[in-house]
Amino acid sequence: MTGFVVVGTDTDAGKTAFSLMFLAAFPDTFAYWKPVETGDSDAEKVRRLVPRAVVLPPLARFSEPVAPVLAARREGRAMPGVADILAARPSADRPLLIETFGGPMSPLTDDVLQLDLIRAFALPVVLVSSAAVGAVARTLQAAAALEHAGLRPVAVALTGADDAFACDQITRRLGGIPVACHEFPAGEWTRDSLAAAAERSRWALQRVEPIVRAGPTFGGRPTDIAAADARAVWHPYTPLQSPDAPLAVAAADDEFLTLDDGRRLIDGISSWWTILHGHRPPAIMQAVRDATHQLDHVLFAGATHPAAVELATSLLGSMPWGPGGRVFYSDNGSTAVEVALKMAYQAWCHRGEAGRTLFVGFEHGYHGDTFGAMSLSRDPVFFGRFEPLLFRALQVPLSADALDAALTHHAGEVAGVLVEPLVQGAGGMRLHTPEELRALFEVTRRHGVPFIADEVMTGFGRTGSLWAFEQAGIAPDLVCAAKGITGGVLPLAATLASPEVVAAFDTADRTRTFFHGHSFTANPIACAAAVASWRLLQTGRWRTDVRRIEAHWLAAAAGLRKLHGVKDARVRGLILAAELDVPGGYLADVGRAMRLAALERGVLLRPLGNVLYALPPLCTSDDSLARIADAMVHAVRSCGL
Ligand SMILES: *Cc1c(COP(=O)(O)O)cnc(C)c1O
Repeated sequence: MTGFVVVGTDTDAGKTAFSLMFLAAFPDTFAYWKPVETGDSDAEKVRRLVPRAVVLPPLARFSEPVAPVLAARREGRAMPGVADILAARPSADRPLLIETFGGPMSPLTDDVLQLDLIRAFALPVVLVSSAAVGAVARTLQAAAALEHAGLRPVAVALTGADDAFACDQITRRLGGIPVACHEFPAGEWTRDSLAAAAERSRWALQRVEPIVRAGPTFGGRPTDIAAADARAVWHPYTPLQSPDAPLAVAAADDEFLTLDDGRRLIDGISSWWTILHGHRPPAIMQAVRDATHQLDHVLFAGATHPAAVELATSLLGSMPWGPGGRVFYSDNGSTAVEVALKMAYQAWCHRGEAGRTLFVGFEHGYHGDTFGAMSLSRDPVFFGRFEPLLFRALQVPLSADALDAALTHHAGEVAGVLVEPLVQGAGGMRLHTPEELRALFEVTRRHGVPFIADEVMTGFGRTGSLWAFEQAGIAPDLVCAAKGITGGVLPLAATLASPEVVAAFDTADRTRTFFHGHSFTANPIACAAAVASWRLLQTGRWRTDVRRIEAHWLAAAAGLRKLHGVKDARVRGLILAAELDVPGGYLADVGRAMRLAALERGVLLRPLGNVLYALPPLCTSDDSLARIADAMVHAVRSCGL
């Protein structure tokens, strides 16, 4: 959908007047839609004064000229919410001129402001303000409110007599956007007087028209994002000649993504398992904004800052260790794993056992895309190509006996054992029980080898406990965290080292330094987001949400299991996975078919080959969970197995 949104600084800014002038100047270009009307009908007025204009009926009309939510209550009717209004957007043969009511901060419903609706439209905004005394302050205040929601008007229309001072002041302060005064017909409005006024303001309207006709913009320039993307961008895990153009995403809120074309999708996989609470949780967004007023970035060697310290202290407080543990920061899951591997090996070196160069991982494990992480995953599809470059490591079946045999056979050679606790994610959402995990830990302990928990996917409540390893009642020596650590809004990772690991480095001897670091180690804004996310977790609300979602999934899994072609359906915390009985594994064609089928149902899923799964954010509503489950059923059926 294309078009633009007309937003007033307040109720009497002159929105309808501007819309009338605009439509009078360009009657064949835009269709008029005011989703919610109160008092006299503006749609009727447009119809009367600009007969050529296409005028679409409002979604809701209330007779009393007061705030719509109040008018609705007095009439005993429901006020439509953001989702209702988005869903009701008419499809016209031309872009829409969408007129709002009141100002950006006017209440839309009891819970949300009109600002949320304006943002959800994901269209250019023209801000209308009266040119009367105080125009500059009034306009800038409304622009600040819009900016708070991440919106910047593309043009300002002042309604009233020409005021060059106001125009200049506003344009300077809003990044040079067009600002002009529009003088309305004096006396009674008629078709003729309106046409004449529009003609007088034509030069100003003509500066606005091409900007809003272009629709959503990026980088200030109207562009077809998909086409520009195809010329410049290389996407992860995607063939350069992919049959599917990338989804152009304009905005996100809670469990939803809003696409450039206006479609709303449910983010059924939390954007690659990053988004934890939901998209743009207000507390984290506020923490990020606050952080940007203080400190952008600082090197982390020989310097520190409060957010990094608070986060490290909190993370350590959740570990089953006594005092003496430490947190080492990096910026993604793969580096968190690399750090753990290097620490484990160097600790052996400090103990005079530099010959321990063998790491042990498990079949179907996944730990990231850097060389150390690849060496321990050795997935033939993902990493087979790089096999000649990978270092020596073992992949054993995920069983205590197999692990015991390997550690016995390679006694004195093994530097560490690396496992994804309870769920092997990228390897196909494969589950093992807390008892099995505990058995792996005990075998590893018995052989005196460090146990490394890769909690990059499972951390922060996703499996029902804050850390997955807690369910096995074990105490790993190293814990890797990333993805959800910031609530998923910014990149950050942490490797947590137990007091025993730390002890091997606890010396002033420079040769025993851990020589590792990244430019953006412990970035202060990312740490601020992580602290805010941690505080959200402290409320404990996540436990209720995981239980709610898990209960929903258990019912959905029973339904999926009955479908033809489904070999297994499994649930753990936020994860629901259905494995299809088809050959081909990760490269199975059904993956793409299922992704497209789910998109048809408005749900973003990205199957791991023949494994279709959902892992939604904690905030996902029951209604959205039902839609995800329905999309999964539809996706499986679409494979025609
Ligand atoms: C995603 C993932 C990684 C890698 O994290 P990145 O941030 O993508 O580098 C490592 N381990 C596990 C278990 C993961 O799921």
